[in-house]
Amino acid sequence: MNLLRCAAAALAGAALLATPLVAQGGGGAPRPTGVPNIPTVDTSGVGALVDQGMNKSQVMKNLQYLTDVIGPRLTGSPAVRAANDWTMKQFQAYGLAAHLESWNFGGTWERGAMWMRLVAPRAHDVIAASWAWTPGTGGKPVTGPVVRIDASTPESLAANKGKVKGAWVMLRPASMVWNNDGPPMSAADSQRQRDAFRGFQQQPQRDSAARARQQQFTADQPFLLRDAGALGILLDGGKEQDLLNMSGSPTRVMPLPQVVVAHEEYALFNRLLDNGVTPQLQASIQNTLNMKDSVPQWNTVAEIRGTDLPGEVVIVGAHLDSWDLGTGATDNGTGSMATLEAARIIAQSGLKPKRTIRFVLFTGEEEGLIGSRKYAEQHAGEADSIQAVIVLDNGAGAVTGQALQGRPELFGLWRAILAPLHGLNADTVTDASKGGTDHLSFLPYGVPGFNFNQITRGYNHTHHSQSDTWDKAIDWDLRQASTVMAVSAFELANLPGMIPRGQRATPPVVAATKVSPELLKANR
Ligand SMILES: [Zn+2]
Repeated sequence: MNLLRCAAAALAGAALLATPLVAQGGGGAPRPTGVPNIPTVDTSGVGALVDQGMNKSQVMKNLQYLTDVIGPRLTGSPAVRAANDWTMKQFQAYGLAAHLESWNFGGTWERGAMWMRLVAPRAHDVIAASWAWTPGTGGKPVTGPVVRIDASTPESLAANKGKVKGAWVMLRPASMVWNNDGPPMSAADSQRQRDAFRGFQQQPQRDSAARARQQQFTADQPFLLRDAGALGILLDGGKEQDLLNMSGSPTRVMPLPQVVVAHEEYALFNRLLDNGVTPQLQASIQNTLNMKDSVPQWNTVAEIRGTDLPGEVVIVGAHLDSWDLGTGATDNGTGSMATLEAARIIAQSGLKPKRTIRFVLFTGEEEGLIGSRKYAEQHAGEADSIQAVIVLDNGAGAVTGQALQGRPELFGLWRAILAPLHGLNADTVTDASKGGTDHLSFLPYGVPGFNFNQITRGYNHTHHSQSDTWDKAIDWDLRQASTVMAVSAFELANLPGMIPRGQRATPPVVAATKVSPELLKANR
């Protein structure tokens, strides 16, 4: 899941209906869907798929290889290509036709060694990591004070830019991270947290000119800070227990170092500044940026061909790439290995779907859903023959059901698809419209796209942090999620008709943030 949109997903809507259904143990009587050309869902075959998925699983073993042996899979790195090659071979070993499809990525970034140290008022190693697609310090240590300024508008930055020369810059106060083992929040605490969260979100501008001005300022801000002589920008990790966070993209290459520090460190700097003590930080950061017009990356694509309607396709997907502080186990090793496992479940069940089921492991998701956007663009001509896209990308937890993604008329259809999975607790349908992952890339083409709801299972902690490792995966949950993917895909492939198309829109263009031209000339 992509960082920028995860807050919206966390706040996504509540269950429309949670009336328990009678456990049907796979299969069961046809259920009406309320969709005119799809009167019922054929649930025969569900029992065989559930048996294959829950009792003969290979998903934990595959996840272990992906995360422990191949390791983190930063888009553009040799590791993500190794993951493409390995998953292609795994699909083939399960009897599927598989290949890699290339797309163009804007440029690679390689994380080098770094350290950061508080040198005054006392010495202390700082838990920190360089944000991706940011430069280093040229291999030499640099030292400077920490300053905290308001630079949220052109006016406030202009007023404060005299303070940033030779300094590490904090652009916000420390975020509120609650001690979960401490006393419960009071009403005033909750209000303070809500206010802080609201302050974190950019206030929407009313007229389009003001909006465009703010957007341009957001693009220009790091360049203005560099020109004012800042050493780098400090970000708050915003989590408990020294956990870090990560993001960045070749669509927004930073002109100066940007470092995420653990919340404990950021809050310390914040308190020292509040009490009139200026922390001094020394750091050395060695990153390698390699921006080129054309850098190919690959999505892994595999298919089980449909018997009756091979030209119509159900896409099952997840993203194979990850951030690199941990090993991308829950974001999104679990989703991508559940996708591979769903392919195995269907292939080895001996069942034959009527439509083609295509399994796609996207890359470039973490940098802005780039691999899936390029895939949807390259396959735009076939959009009307894509029955649906179903994605799993909300961590390690079991699936609780489906989110309707702005398609309330499909409530009965999803209830019918998931009804035989009541025994696996996977049959709730919510009205949430979820953000931050690859199903979004298909919606502008009218393709019905969905991202399963999952139990949280600590995803707030593992997400983009150094603790995103194999040990956070849960065997039963992952077998269940893989089974739900397989069953949903198979039922969608066998529906009597195509799901009505969603509303079309202009797909967002994948392009570099446009910085004001006069700021692009380095003048330091
Ligand atoms: Zn992510």
